[in-house]
Amino acid sequence: MNDSSRPCDAVIIGGGHNGLVCAAYLAAGGLKVTVLERRGVVGGAAVTEEFHPGFRNSVASYTVSLLNPKVIRDLELPRHGLRVVERVVSNFLPTEDGRYLKTGGGLTRPEVARFSEKDAGALEAYGERLDAIADVLRDLVLETPPNVVQGDWRTALPELLRASRLGGRLRKLDMSLRRELLSLFATSAGDYLDGWFESDPIKAVYGFDGIVGNYASPYTPGSAYVLLHHVFGEVNGKKGAWGHAIGGMGAITQAMAKSAAARGVQIRLSTPVQQVLVEGGRAIGAVTQSGEVIRASAVISNLNPKLLYLDLFEAGVLPADFRARIAQYRCGSGTFRMNVALAELPDFTCLPGKARGDHHTAGIILAPTLRYMEQAYFDARTSGWSKRPIVEMLIPSTLDDSLSPEGQHVASLFCQHVAPQLPNGESWDVHREKVADLMIETVSQHAPNFKGAVLGRQILSPLDLERTFGLVGGDIMHGALQLDQMFSARPMLGHGNYRGPLAGLYMCGAGTHPGGGVTGAPGHNAAREILADFRRGRLKRAA
Ligand SMILES: Cc1cc2nc3c(=O)[nH]c(=O)nc-3n(C[C@H](O)[C@H](O)[C@H](O)COP(=O)(O)OP(=O)(O)OC[C@H]3O[C@@H](n4cnc5c(N)ncnc54)[C@H](O)[C@@H]3O)c2cc1C
Repeated sequence: MNDSSRPCDAVIIGGGHNGLVCAAYLAAGGLKVTVLERRGVVGGAAVTEEFHPGFRNSVASYTVSLLNPKVIRDLELPRHGLRVVERVVSNFLPTEDGRYLKTGGGLTRPEVARFSEKDAGALEAYGERLDAIADVLRDLVLETPPNVVQGDWRTALPELLRASRLGGRLRKLDMSLRRELLSLFATSAGDYLDGWFESDPIKAVYGFDGIVGNYASPYTPGSAYVLLHHVFGEVNGKKGAWGHAIGGMGAITQAMAKSAAARGVQIRLSTPVQQVLVEGGRAIGAVTQSGEVIRASAVISNLNPKLLYLDLFEAGVLPADFRARIAQYRCGSGTFRMNVALAELPDFTCLPGKARGDHHTAGIILAPTLRYMEQAYFDARTSGWSKRPIVEMLIPSTLDDSLSPEGQHVASLFCQHVAPQLPNGESWDVHREKVADLMIETVSQHAPNFKGAVLGRQILSPLDLERTFGLVGGDIMHGALQLDQMFSARPMLGHGNYRGPLAGLYMCGAGTHPGGGVTGAPGHNAAREILADFRRGRLKRAA
């Protein structure tokens, strides 16, 4: 091992978007910060890469909404090149009887009325109620959850105050909304939507949010919260909207890296960390794969908690019960991701035309009903994947001409459900090509020209997502968004405040509150806690 010449106040393991956000805030607080990223590019799951000659795409995460407006402002992301545009239409869903539903762009009400007048009439109240609840969650996103602590009153008091502030926020909701909030945490997206609507297409469009990155049926209790998690975002001030970052998701993280670098953060690429260095029960630095030691007062991890605690510590360093508990932390999204280079746009049977239509700019959901989605989950549980999978397709080149040659296109296929680990213990490497063919075939059933238009494809099975991006079990959220892994319990009760089980050790990734998505919130909140620990003298500045 050789010691780095640059002792720093904080070393961040991982240059995903949360690592970059945390770094930028710490540097703004006057700290000397180094980020160590394993890959040759920053951004983690929010990157733009060339996957086929001449064709670039957001290769993993693909659409923006959850990115917190305060983070955008504080890091001055627009000044560093970020521009986000809205989809013309939010969603487009071909139905089983050969029709289609479009939502967003002012069309939702008349479109839904084509299937049910009653549902069209319910839309406004549904939107208002969900929005009122989402507003409370929006407020909580940038808060540190009250930590469940053991110890005397001095430790417990600040956490009690935090809990009472949280109670104050919930008081904003009247009793009927509080009941609704409880339902959203406990019930399934399917049951919740069945209570509001009678027609399948609108339930499928909304219910899809309940299974994004959630390896579950839309009728699994708790999936209603996942639905809510996906509506608390906004685009350019428009609540609940989804948009596209010009240049792809990598434009977000490139802007973050520029913002951090402008504040003096050192970002080192192709520098995998092999171990967290511990002395006297305190984290004191990171050891890279090449044996270099970077010492720092605060060691901060942007990694999935399982990767951090199970892979980066010598045996016996962490408390045994803590380690055993982290080994039980549930990861696995059921996600199979493809990027496709296209010679032409898909020509949908239900809405013919190869010229760009508004529907081509939408999140195109190929899963007509909640029952279809449930069956896809059952099939994945028993056989590894469904012959009738769920595919959401986005064609970002319809909004952004920087991604593909003129007249040609790139499509993101976000496919679910597949088993994170195949039931018979086989490797995903054996089946990835076959399953990729099935996904292309699934799109072609709705747009017959699709298969013939494919010029090239990139396949990311759950195993590929783990190998390429460090997403354990392909989990896009760094851990399932279930009640026992959320808020104060993310990643574990007693460590919901971004602090690890050793002095000097912190977490800033999606495995902390408020969880996954390109939000910047975990990075923002972790930085606030770390800066507070420097102010209180729990951490010392480097000489
Ligand atoms: C297929 C897919 C689709 C998604 N779609 C969307 C979407 O459309 N919209 C949205 O908002 N969210 C989406 N998400 C979720 C979102 O991208 C993630 O939740 C988010 O990017 C997590 O950010 P992070 O910074 O916490 O972690 P990550 O992005 O996972 O970053 C962690 C970083 O740590 C690095 N690292 C790992 N091990 C080491 C090591 N030993 N040493 C040094 N560095 C290391 C990794 O290379 C990586 O750069 C999607 C994710 C995936 C995978």
